[in-house]
Amino acid sequence: MKVVDLRSDTVTQPTPAMREAMMAAPLGDDVFGDDPSVNLLQDALAAALGFEAALFMPSGTQSNLCALMSHCQRGDEYIVGQFAHTYRWEGGGAAVLGSIQPQPISHAQDGSLPLAEIAANIKPDDAHFARTRLLALENTIGGKVLPLAYLSEASRLALTHGLARHLDGARLFNAAVACAHEFGHDPYAAAKGICSHFDSVSVCFSKGLGAPVGSVLCGSRELITKRAHRWRKMTGGGLRQAGLLAAAAHHALEHHVRRLAQDHALARHLAQGLQGLDGVTVEAPQTNIVFVDVAPAKAAGLLDHLKSRGVLATGLYRLRFVTHLDVDAQGVDRAIAAMREYFEGV
Ligand SMILES: *Cc1c(COP(=O)(O)O)cnc(C)c1O
Repeated sequence: MKVVDLRSDTVTQPTPAMREAMMAAPLGDDVFGDDPSVNLLQDALAAALGFEAALFMPSGTQSNLCALMSHCQRGDEYIVGQFAHTYRWEGGGAAVLGSIQPQPISHAQDGSLPLAEIAANIKPDDAHFARTRLLALENTIGGKVLPLAYLSEASRLALTHGLARHLDGARLFNAAVACAHEFGHDPYAAAKGICSHFDSVSVCFSKGLGAPVGSVLCGSRELITKRAHRWRKMTGGGLRQAGLLAAAAHHALEHHVRRLAQDHALARHLAQGLQGLDGVTVEAPQTNIVFVDVAPAKAAGLLDHLKSRGVLATGLYRLRFVTHLDVDAQGVDRAIAAMREYFEGV
């Protein structure tokens, strides 16, 4: 029985076509800037998203860290959400390695950071305070898509106060696919539209896009070549024949963006299939992540039960199911059946 792994969209295997692209990639030493496949990916993503330059990174964590350290100096501060990956899930790297103070604020229900809260947390120029330098947002955040009107207003607010704007777009293309209807159904145009509100954007290729490794940080030529590149080297991210990996990401950029719509459809299908189960509350998914709240009394044996039926998820009282390239409709139906069996005994 093939396991239906819904723990994360990071568990995907490279497709045969992706492996072929990797095998065929021309390679060079990227520390010398000589790897044509890395350069191709960087140039393609920068152009697609409307930035001057881009830099291939081993991970999204490193990409966000290099971005924060490129925007902020020691003693500066960035405004960020309580549940943002850059703040909560990256080991406190910006504070530890960058001496950058986070100013976390609570999210609104839709995942956004309320503008009034952002404004209230921008410090005056006074020796008592850290210097507020950057607004860092995340899209999608917890699978939710930040509204375009919000991005535009948050961006204007940041600019008014002289703050730089960074987007953790680990799942930028999930957000883009979800709002593509506002861009003539073109997800690439939607991604560019989202990015137009930011000075830098970090995109993960190892999530829904299905590449084995890699993120790319986009920004101005100055930010990328003068600052981020130095931080990447210092944090140990200078790679040699990295084109092998960049080729997988480039393949994903060309072939795995539009198909994210299928993941979103399967997530909706899963949520519908769980609707109405006694002891289960399902949040309607906007992209590829389904959150399911489980009555505490019923939570204990659930993950083991699912596992015994060949279905993997994460969480306890709040389960997370993530659809991706290696999950199909039958897999989702198996997950629904296993959940029904557990909660209804059928
Ligand atoms: C996964 C993720 C990252 C970091 O990715 P790694 O490649 O695992 O370091 C950053 N931000 C968000 C929102 C993510 O989901």
